[in-house]
Order: sequence, then C-alpha cells, then structure tokens
Amino acid sequence: MFERVAFIGIGLIGSSLARVIRRQGLAKQVIACARDEATRAKALELGIVDEATAAPEKAVRDADLVVLATPLGAYPKVSAAIAPELGMGSIVTDVGSVKAAAIRDVAPLMPEGVHFVPGHPVAGTEHSGPEAGFETLFEGRWCILTPPAECDQAAVDRVAELWRRAGSMIEIMTAERHDKILGITSHLPHLIAYTIVGTVADLEDSTQSEVVKYAAGGFREFTRIAASDPVMWRDIFVNNQDAVLEMLSRFSEDLARVQRAIRWGEAETLEKLFRRTREVRRGVIEAHQT
Ligand code: NAP
Repeated sequence: MFERVAFIGIGLIGSSLARVIRRQGLAKQVIACARDEATRAKALELGIVDEATAAPEKAVRDADLVVLATPLGAYPKVSAAIAPELGMGSIVTDVGSVKAAAIRDVAPLMPEGVHFVPGHPVAGTEHSGPEAGFETLFEGRWCILTPPAECDQAAVDRVAELWRRAGSMIEIMTAERHDKILGITSHLPHLIAYTIVGTVADLEDSTQSEVVKYAAGGFREFTRIAASDPVMWRDIFVNNQDAVLEMLSRFSEDLARVQRAIRWGEAETLEKLFRRTREVRRGVIEAHQT
C-alpha cells in the first residue's frame, strides 16, 4: 500500500499499527521517531521498524505516509519540524484522541499538496510504549476519521483502507461530533476513575490498605483505567475542554439526583436507574465492544 511509512511516536498505538503494516507487508519501509534512545532501541529490537531516529524531520523524508502517534501536546512542535520535509502528495494522519485540537494544531502547518487525514482508533489499553503494542489491538474496533471538508477523498480512502486491513470498522464524522461522543464514552469515565482513585490515595493509611486489599469489590476496574498514561490524558483534557466540561456538568447533576435518592431512601428511583444501565451494558455486549 505504501513505499515508506514514518511513525512519529512508536508507543502502544503506533507500534500496534506498525506491527500490522509489518506482518501484512503493507509498506516497503517503516521508520520510527521517538525522543528516548530506549524507545528507539526497543522498536528496532521488536523488528517492527527498519530505522529509528530522534529527528522527526529525518523520519518523514521520502515517506508517502506519516502517522502522528505522540501525545497531543507534541503536535505543534512535531508538525512544524516535519512540514518542510513532507513530499508533494504525501499523506499525514494521526491517532490522537481529540480531533478538533488535532486539526487546529496540524492542518495550518501542512504545505500545499500534503493531505492531512485526522483519525482516531477507538481501541487501547492502559499500557504504554512499543512493547505494549500488539497486532490485534484494532480488530473489531471502530476507527473514526474526521477529514475536514476540503480533504482529498483519495487520501481519506487510503487511510480508511489501512485501518480496514488492521481489522477496524470505519466511521467518518466531524471533529466536533467525535470530541463530543468521546467526551462521554472515554474522557469522562477516565476522569471519574482518576478522581475516585485520587480520593482513595488521600485516605488515611489504614483505610487505604484495606481498600487495596478488597479492591476486587469494584475499585480495581477504576485503578486499571486510572493507570493510563498521565501525559496522554493530561493532553486529552486540556484539548477537549468544552465537551468534557459539558458532560461533566450533566454527570454532576445526575450524581446529585442519585445522592438525593439515597438520602430520602428512594429505593425505586435507584432500582429504576440500575435497570436502565443494565440495558446499556447489554447493548455494548451485543455490539461486540466488550
Ligand atoms: P505511548 O504508548 O505513550 O506512546 C507515545 C509515543 O510517542 C512514544 O513512542 C514516545 O516515545 C513518543 N513521543 C512522545 N513525545 C514525542 C515527541 N515530542 N516527539 C517524538 N516522539 C514522541 O502513547 P499511546 O498510547 O500510543 O498514545 C499515542 C496517541 O494515541 C495519543 O495521542 C493518544 O491520544 C492516542 N490514543 C491512545 C489510545 C490509548 O488507549 N492509549 C487509544 C487511541 C488513541 P519517547 O517518549 O521515547 O519520545
């Protein structure tokens, strides 16, 4: 599909896509860019890239596909560095979890004739780094592309095809819609997990050790989510402020309603809510998204 693919960032997501490209022979050459020597050495050792460099501008030279797979906060600097080296007709895509900010930070820096196709594979784990990646990560998961109206259709089709080869289903939508939906399905749950685990971290030592001991009661699922990469999630919240704050205020209202129901012993209200939420879980299972 491609001559030379350059990954800027080769962590969980970048390395998983690199594995797909490698195993299926979708590119003649794969090159990675990462700041740390240890990250580059790992990517080479895993055999998922041919070359590794610390210089983004070097990585993208002669690449017909560039995949930005760093935390969102690195986008402005990385885009400015690669822009002068991007070839006419080349495609730049990304995997960032917030799309309006990705377009804001990348699109204006792209030279004429370079096609930027923003994307987001809705798949992941709480682990980071090239060793955390695996080839089947994207199988059966959605990949959302949010091309701006002026985006080249052939470029969008090629990026979509790449994700299909990775086993994903494709959805196209606006960046604003994406950010709103992911605000509720991904960002808010992470915020709740970070907060609840933070609450426990603030408890006095004796209670905290018991919480850890009996974590299987539900808390452990929150600790798993709250173990996600701090830099990546810092950047997500800073870049999806509006949608997250809107969802958070709706959530706070609903929480207050539940609080009231508990105070007044409104058993029926609680049971009704818990029955409705069970239905949502059934829907997720039926959609094969567990
Ligand atoms: P990760 O495992 O931490 O990998 C990030 C990679 O970027 C590392 O290889 C890191 O290597 C490199 N990097 C960081 N800053 C850089 C810079 N300034 N220049 C060059 N390389 C840099 O993170 P990830 O989970 O793959 O996430 C990457 C992107 O995917 C994020 O934008 C995130 O929003 C998105 N995403 C994540 C998930 C998920 O569940 N994790 C799911 C969907 C989308 P060095 O530290 O050595 O530079």
